Amino acid sequence: MVKETTFYDLLGVSPSASVSEIKKSYRKLALKYHPDKNPEAGDKFKQISHAYEVLSDEKKRRIYDEGGEEALNGASDMGGFHSPMDIFDMFFGTGRGRQRGSHRERKGKDMVHQLKVSLEDLYNGATRQLALQKSILCPKCDGIGGKKGSVVTCNTCSGSGMYVRIHQIAPGMVQQIQAQCRDCDGSGERIPDKDHCKNCQGRKTIKERKILEVHIVKGMRDGQKITFSGEGDQEPGIEPGDVVIVLDEKNHSVFKRNDIDLYMQLEIDLVEALCGFKKTLETLDQRHIVNFPPDGFITPPSRRQLEQLLPPREEVMIPDDAEEHDLGNAYDEDEDSGHRGAGVQCQSQ
Ligand SMILES: [Zn+2]
Ligand SMILES: [Zn+2]
Repeated sequence: MVKETTFYDLLGVSPSASVSEIKKSYRKLALKYHPDKNPEAGDKFKQISHAYEVLSDEKKRRIYDEGGEEALNGASDMGGFHSPMDIFDMFFGTGRGRQRGSHRERKGKDMVHQLKVSLEDLYNGATRQLALQKSILCPKCDGIGGKKGSVVTCNTCSGSGMYVRIHQIAPGMVQQIQAQCRDCDGSGERIPDKDHCKNCQGRKTIKERKILEVHIVKGMRDGQKITFSGEGDQEPGIEPGDVVIVLDEKNHSVFKRNDIDLYMQLEIDLVEALCGFKKTLETLDQRHIVNFPPDGFITPPSRRQLEQLLPPREEVMIPDDAEEHDLGNAYDEDEDSGHRGAGVQCQSQ
């Protein structure tokens, strides 16, 4: 029993959730509520990031489970908490360009997108097109914002981009306040209104719809990232960031994936369980497989006798292109649930 479930509720998982369930849920919610994507969401991004930071850390999660949020705040060795953006960047491995206050070559921030893919796409490989809106340097003015040679130094700040205001707080006492120049937005340069580029209205960049071709390679996994280097937003004087596509695997109606194995649940009748059976299954690459039970577990005369006593099995149509596969462990009966669900590992390659 946990003391409170607020953090679990925020991430939409149960208190017994595994680390991978918590990660998966955070990934979805963080992309949905990221302020770039959803500026209206208020504190939601902050809350889920904080919940994730606690629940993804074994030690913090234990303290939270036992004593709730109060216990976390009271624990002195927690080492503080990260900002929601830092958690996001650590999780997605992005944000190299965001070192605040650093003056080395600046890089724009990365854009992270989630792409829903089916299990068939991951199994067979696929190419998907993804449309996104991005800023590009205005092609009419080459990102200058006006005619060449029209850029002049800002009078207000004399080109420094900052202005200093002297404020008297008491007789003989002054306070200096330094702020970004509002007339040039801190760039130190201006373009007279009459020279503004008509295409971008002097903004230097325009929005463009870009189609990215995403190649999903056979065997890729849920959560795997595909990076398009330098495809992020363009800004003058800044190296564009990357576009990072995160694959999100949709649930499949038949197969479940566990690492490199595929699993399925198959319900079989009593007569099939006792006397063997044939079933046609469709694989993810649309081949057909016919499954057989192990041979020789019952002698043919006894089997015929037994079959006559039991309800008949359904006839199945077997397609001409079907392949034969051995259904090795089809006899593991699930005693708890009372039905005969066999854990069948599909090994058709
Ligand atoms: Zn200025
Ligand atoms: Zn322009």
